[in-house]
Amino acid sequence: MSIQSGLPDSFNPQSYDAIVVGAGYAGAVCARRMAEACGFKVAILERRNHIAGNAYDCEDEAGVLIHKYGPHIYHTTNDRVHEFLSRFTEWTDYSHKVLANVHGQLMPVPFNHQSLKIAFGDEKGERLYQKLVATFGQDKKVPIMELREKNDPELSEIADYVYENVFLRYTMKQWGKTPDEIDPAVMGRVPVFVGDDDRYFPQAPYQGMPEVSFTDMFAHMLDHDLISIFLDVDARDILEVGERSVNVCGKPFGGEVIYTGALDELFDFDLGALPYRTVDMVFETLDKDQFQPVGTVNYTVSENFTRITEFKNMTGQVVPGKTTILREYSRVYIPGVGETPYYVINEPENIELYKKYRARVEGVLNFHVVGRLAEYRYYDMDGVTASALELSDEIISSNH
Ligand SMILES: Cc1cc2nc3c(=O)[nH]c(=O)nc-3n(C[C@H](O)[C@H](O)[C@H](O)COP(=O)(O)OP(=O)(O)OC[C@H]3O[C@@H](n4cnc5c(N)ncnc54)[C@H](O)[C@@H]3O)c2cc1C
Repeated sequence: MSIQSGLPDSFNPQSYDAIVVGAGYAGAVCARRMAEACGFKVAILERRNHIAGNAYDCEDEAGVLIHKYGPHIYHTTNDRVHEFLSRFTEWTDYSHKVLANVHGQLMPVPFNHQSLKIAFGDEKGERLYQKLVATFGQDKKVPIMELREKNDPELSEIADYVYENVFLRYTMKQWGKTPDEIDPAVMGRVPVFVGDDDRYFPQAPYQGMPEVSFTDMFAHMLDHDLISIFLDVDARDILEVGERSVNVCGKPFGGEVIYTGALDELFDFDLGALPYRTVDMVFETLDKDQFQPVGTVNYTVSENFTRITEFKNMTGQVVPGKTTILREYSRVYIPGVGETPYYVINEPENIELYKKYRARVEGVLNFHVVGRLAEYRYYDMDGVTASALELSDEIISSNH
């Protein structure tokens, strides 16, 4: 692997078999597989000054390992994804836990046996819990809509509590919506867990944090003789997509192009910008060992931020007398001014607009789009890895 800032004057795209735009999961997985399985010489163009995309982590001034673009917790049910990523890192046995801060009381999310007792008091909470067990069985995830459908005042009381105190304000902050604008179908899916398991991802057999860091995992993934990385390079400066072909540095490029950036940006937003939510990430280092008992506390009824993450609680890092926390403030994303688009707004008109951009690149057979930006969809890290493995399978099989 070679890594440098900017493109040298001697850069000649024709000397590469593949050009990858973006060094996040989508780009890095494809680059590694093409280098390894096809013997392709790969150039990765990344406009940030680091690899790892939004999973990038680094030490702050206090020496605390932080996630610059928001807390990332690895979890998956996918054997192939886990096997692939585990080639490049060991994992800790961290299990993510989230608490909701409801008027100063901390209770597990998803709402469970313990949450019921905190919210309603020991005696009533236990009675309600036993009713849930009798109605739905133990260790079941029950959407609040199903609680309401039972027409039992006590079960409806649980549904109302969870809706108002755990879901509503949090969702309004996260998506900038009024209660009327919140889709009743989404609202009905909010779950109550009939059991004691307080892990946030109980269904994932593989979960944890990389033993060293996500960035270190990416460095190992990209550590291949045939991969060259060029940081601080915006691919749009040298890439032009036509109806049937793609030009790089003004000349037709016949190799594979993997594009993991946003398609509206690639076409200068000429059909309009795809809407997103962005997040103002506000980090604070405190002179204490620990701030809160778990990785993440959601502020579900108060404050303007959505949640506070304390990194040491997730990474297990020991830094005596210092800890760094992150408050997340969600807001509308302004396109074209260098903000980070974080969450796709999954509404029909936005998907229609996306399809129009997507149609423009469909005829260019060596131009492949993959990843959260290029596909305009929310992916967890395992989901985007799975997609990149599939795309690289196709490229590998057509080059054998
Ligand atoms: C706040 C937040 C928290 C999350 N937490 C979790 C979690 O706990 N667990 C989990 O599994 N997933 C989580 N995710 C999802 C995770 O971030 C994504 O799955 C992952 O980042 C997707 O990888 P990607 O390669 O598609 O995109 P990215 O990581 O965004 O990588 C794309 C890269 O392309 C580069 N790029 C774009 N355009 C250009 C261009 N024109 N030229 C050059 N480079 C370009 C970008 O700079 C970027 O580095 C979270 C997401 C958010 C928003």
